[in-house]
Formats: sequence, C-alpha cells, structure tokens
Amino acid sequence: MTITTKDLQQLFAGIAEDIAAERDHLCELDGAIGDGDHGLAMDGGCQAAAKAVGALDVETAPTLLFNVAAKAFLNAVGASSGPLYATAFMRAAAAAKDRQTLTDDDFVRVFAAMATGIQERGKAEAGEKTMVDAWKPAADAALDAWGTGKPLPECLDMAVHAARVGCDATKDMTAAKGRASRLGDRAIGHIDPGAASAVIIIATMAKFARR
Ligand code: ADP
Ligand code: MG
Ligand code: MG
Repeated sequence: MTITTKDLQQLFAGIAEDIAAERDHLCELDGAIGDGDHGLAMDGGCQAAAKAVGALDVETAPTLLFNVAAKAFLNAVGASSGPLYATAFMRAAAAAKDRQTLTDDDFVRVFAAMATGIQERGKAEAGEKTMVDAWKPAADAALDAWGTGKPLPECLDMAVHAARVGCDATKDMTAAKGRASRLGDRAIGHIDPGAASAVIIIATMAKFARR
C-alpha cells in the first residue's frame, strides 16, 4: 500500500489523540517511580508534532514531515522523552529520505529506525526499565515478520504484542537509566511509564497499518 504525506498527517493526529486519552494514566505511572510528568510531556509533544505536521502542504516530502515532527516535539517537551522521540522522528526522516510516498517496506524501516534512534540517544539496552523495553522487541518483531514475508498490518500487530510483553516485563525490573534508577529496588512492582506510552504509539501505528 502507498503511504502518502496525508496518511502520515493522520497518523500523527491519531498518535496525539491516543496519547491524550491516556495522559493522566501516564502521569500516574510516572508519579510512582519518576516525577509524574510523563503524560503531560508526551501529550504536549504529540499535540505539538501533530499540529506542526498537520499544517504542512500535502505535497511535503515524508522526510521533511518527520523532521518537522522532531523539531516540534523537542521544542514542546522539557523532559527526557523530548530528545528521545525527537531522535526517533529524525531517524524516521532519514529512513524516508528521497521518497515522495512510502511503501510498506519503507514504513517497516521507518518503524525500526525510530526504535534504533531511541536506543542510541538514550544509550539504554533492553532490561534497563525504559521505553527501549517496548521499542526494541517491537522493532525486532516487525523486522522478523517482514523478513518472512508477512504483510505490514500483521508485522505491526506482532510488534504491538512484543511491545506489550516488553512493557509488562518492566514491572519486575530495577531501572538502570532515567529518574527511576535512583530508586533501586523500590522501582520494582511498577511499570515503566515510557514503555507504557511506547505501547500506545506502537498500537496507533498498527491501527494505521490496518486502515
Ligand atoms: P523525565 O524523567 O525527564 O521527567 P519523562 O517523564 O518524559 O522524562 O520520561 C520518563 C521515561 O523516559 C522513562 O519512563 C523511560 O522510559 C524513559 N527514559 C529515561 N531515560 C532513558 C534513557 N536513557 N533511554 C531510554 N529511555 C529513557
Ligand atoms: Mg517524568
Ligand atoms: Mg520531568
């Protein structure tokens, strides 16, 4: 299926809507092991990105659209999630370079590039109780499924499943990165808020792929 700039504008609007619906829950999760602002940060960043992207002409190249999203997200967010998602969107821009529309193959590469960007920006590995625990297995699952010839919607459904499993697993972890790393064993028993918001975004991307 061909993915146009208009489709990507709708994707960003969908992400903003789904994150907004979970804003308070994400703040509660962050309240338990962080500073309680994760819902506000993600909501502010996603609204700003959706607005900036939505204002672009439909002829805008996808690479520019992702760079606009990155800048808007970074400017709107004063928390750790700001530079992490800004990097994700910049890597998406690089993966979409020289395209006027995206193929399913491009979209899988965009998705995987976002995960790699977050991982490299935060220098976190899976198992350190961060959003990487959702993004990394999700990207691996999507790439694996795509490599075995599964259609895009199925690849992203498998990514959502892997993200959920990864997010749930953060509950039993101590944190090695971010604010929660100061808590030691007291972080155990709580889901990582960044992993929870990652599941929401990945699920919106999967919904988009099934459209
Ligand atoms: P802050 O902690 O600055 O208030 P947020 O509340 O927006 O930032 O985001 C917290 C989330 O950011 C954590 O739950 C975790 O998932 C993620 N995070 C923090 N540090 C890192 C890192 N180095 N790499 C990846 N993710 C990180
Ligand atoms: Mg926070
Ligand atoms: Mg904060």
